[in-house]
Amino acid sequence: MKLIADFHTHTVASGHAYSTIEEYAAEAQKRGLKYVAITDHGPDMPGAPHLFHFVNLVMVPEKIGPVRILRGAEVNIINAEGEIDLPKQALERLDVVIVAMHTPCSYNKGDKRSNTRAYLKALDNPYINIIAHPGNQQFPIDHTRIIAKAREKGVMIEINNSSPVSRRGSYDACVEIAREVKRIGWKVAIGSDAHISKMVGGHMQALKICRAAGLKKDDIVNTSADLIEKYILGPRKKFKKEYAYEF
Ligand SMILES: [Zn+2]
Ligand SMILES: [Zn+2]
Repeated sequence: MKLIADFHTHTVASGHAYSTIEEYAAEAQKRGLKYVAITDHGPDMPGAPHLFHFVNLVMVPEKIGPVRILRGAEVNIINAEGEIDLPKQALERLDVVIVAMHTPCSYNKGDKRSNTRAYLKALDNPYINIIAHPGNQQFPIDHTRIIAKAREKGVMIEINNSSPVSRRGSYDACVEIAREVKRIGWKVAIGSDAHISKMVGGHMQALKICRAAGLKKDDIVNTSADLIEKYILGPRKKFKKEYAYEF
C-alpha cells in the first residue's frame, strides 16, 4: 500500500530529536511522500519549544520542493480536565494538531477512567485533528468511547509506527483500536513519529497493525490527497489564520 503522507514527525526543536524541517523535506521527497506534518512536542514536554515556535510556523513555506509541509504540533494533555498546552493563537495557525499523553508531562499518571475522561474532554477542543498513539499502555483508556467521540468530532485515530517498538505491549491494543475504527466505519491516520529524518515515511509496523485489523486503503487517510483534504485539511480551513503573529 502506498502512503503519500506522514502526519507525525519531530525536529531538533523538540529537544530530543535530531533533524531540521529542511532535512525532513529532502528525505520525504526521496521517499515519494507528498505531505509531511512537522509536529514538535508542545511546551509542557521538557526540552520542547516555546509557544512562539508554534505561532511562527506560518513563516515556513507551504511547500519545500514538491513536498507540502504541514505546520503542526503534538500537544500534551496537561490535566484531568483535558486541557492542552497550546492556546488558540498557536492552534489557529496550524494545519495538523495531534494530541497525546506523555509521562514526562504535567498529566502523567491517570487510571483508565480519568484518562478516558481527559481525552473525551480534549476532543471538545475544535482545533484537534488526531489522537496520537492511543494504544500506549502507560495510559490505559476506554478506546471504544474515545473512538466514538473522535468520529463525532471528526478527529482521526493514529496508528503510530513507533508504538510496537517504543511503547511496550502496545501492539495488541493498537490492533484492537484499529478494529474498532473499522467496525464503526471511521478512519485512521498513520504517523512515523520520526525523531530523525531517516525515519520519515516509515510505516511498516503501522501497516502491519492495519492489515491485522482488516483495514483497507480507504480506511487510511494517508493514502490519497482527497482523503487528506476531506478529513484533515478541509475541516481546519474554517478557522485557519495565515498571517504571522504579532509579537
Ligand atoms: Zn507522542
Ligand atoms: Zn511524537
